[in-house]
Amino acid sequence: MSVMVPSTTPAQITPGRQALDSTLHQLGQAADHLGLGDGLRTMLSTPRRSLTVSVPVRREDGRMDIVQGYRVQHNVSRGPAKGGLRFHPGTDIHEVTALAMWMTWKCALADIPYGGAKGGVAVDPATLDSRELERLTRRYVNEILPMMGPDNDIPAPDVGTDEQTMAWIMDAYSSKAGHTLPSKPVPPGGSPGQAGATSRGVQIAALAALGRSPDGVTVAVQGFGKVGALTAQYLADAGCKVVAVSDASGGVYAPAGLDLAGLRAWVAESGHVLGYRHADALGRDELFELNVDVLVPAALGSAITEANAPHVRARLVVEAANGPTTPEADEILTANGTTVVPDILANAGGVIVSYLEWVQIMQASSWSEEQAEQRMRHLMESTYAEVAALAARRGLTLRQAAHVIAVGRVAEAHQTRALCS
Ligand code: NAD
Repeated sequence: MSVMVPSTTPAQITPGRQALDSTLHQLGQAADHLGLGDGLRTMLSTPRRSLTVSVPVRREDGRMDIVQGYRVQHNVSRGPAKGGLRFHPGTDIHEVTALAMWMTWKCALADIPYGGAKGGVAVDPATLDSRELERLTRRYVNEILPMMGPDNDIPAPDVGTDEQTMAWIMDAYSSKAGHTLPSKPVPPGGSPGQAGATSRGVQIAALAALGRSPDGVTVAVQGFGKVGALTAQYLADAGCKVVAVSDASGGVYAPAGLDLAGLRAWVAESGHVLGYRHADALGRDELFELNVDVLVPAALGSAITEANAPHVRARLVVEAANGPTTPEADEILTANGTTVVPDILANAGGVIVSYLEWVQIMQASSWSEEQAEQRMRHLMESTYAEVAALAARRGLTLRQAAHVIAVGRVAEAHQTRALCS
């Protein structure tokens, strides 16, 4: 038996710790603006429930590995906890806590009745085959079962997981609960699902922030996974010219615009963007410095730091990823006149559509995909307008304004329920 535990030394600042520092910084700024008292600040900066589990994975060759798994419910004062599940070797309890906190603010900002949660398993899914992944997923569900359920905590896909992972989770939970949870079946060949809705929401936020015709607007997208690939496509469909994308393997660049269908077919075949013949190769991080109008980080956290922020030439950054910009980088971008549409606003489309699906299940009704998308579009546009108006009125960045609204709503829920003053 081998134990796969992320190797960190106490002195090392992990990406997870960096993410948590960013969330706490953003919360602190919003709390100052709102004049919140110490009790509320402590409550809002502390997760409600936090579970670390050791998950055994039986490998096909008979070996048994143990991986670390986490589930954190940051806040449930406005409704059941909702949040994605990440399979990534670098994930840790700090990162999962930060991501859960961002979920709380995202749901509150869109004014949907969910709290914030997140899960993570410190594993590289590319090293497991489908049967191993299924066993790992089911075992993880077993371990975190006391926290789960449609009235407590609802999972969603994130980095390294997909609609198939969600179907295994639903089945594992249902077999323990003794009844099947109502949910949408996964169609053969997969479905764009929540990531498709997230990408559509990113497109809506980007077009709202652009404030002009998207025709010919140049775009670079970091990350060509579930969210990045569809965001690139939806922006191209709207008239933008997607000239560069990257993934963990490297980047590709075509100044006349990438053939995204061709690139997706290449990625489906090879597993990465590197080596795509109809574009120039680009260093993975060169993408940030390209002369484009819009930059969309759609990969992992802390991608834009104080080291590369001074070289960003895009006038608009739209955060499809969670936590892609560190607070130091944020200040540099703002000082350089770059507008940043923050994660809790830009990538809220997925959770909004999940909420709309939940409403349909509760009402035993069914809307067409167009009806659901129309409602999501309306909510995204009205939320963007609310954030932009507050930012203009109070001289705040979009991120600060979004956090003031979101943190204010959660604080109000605590005060109304007399949980804290
Ligand atoms: P995914 O696993 O499908 O894709 C991640 C992509 O990022 C892959 O293409 C990977 O190669 C790439 N990547 C990793 N490291 C990179 C690096 N250093 N440089 C360039 N590319 C790199 O994940 P996803 O579901 O598309 O999620 C992407 C981001 O969007 C995450 O931050 C996630 O939290 C956020 N998000 C996802 C959803 C969702 O519904 N899946 C919803 C909201 C937010």
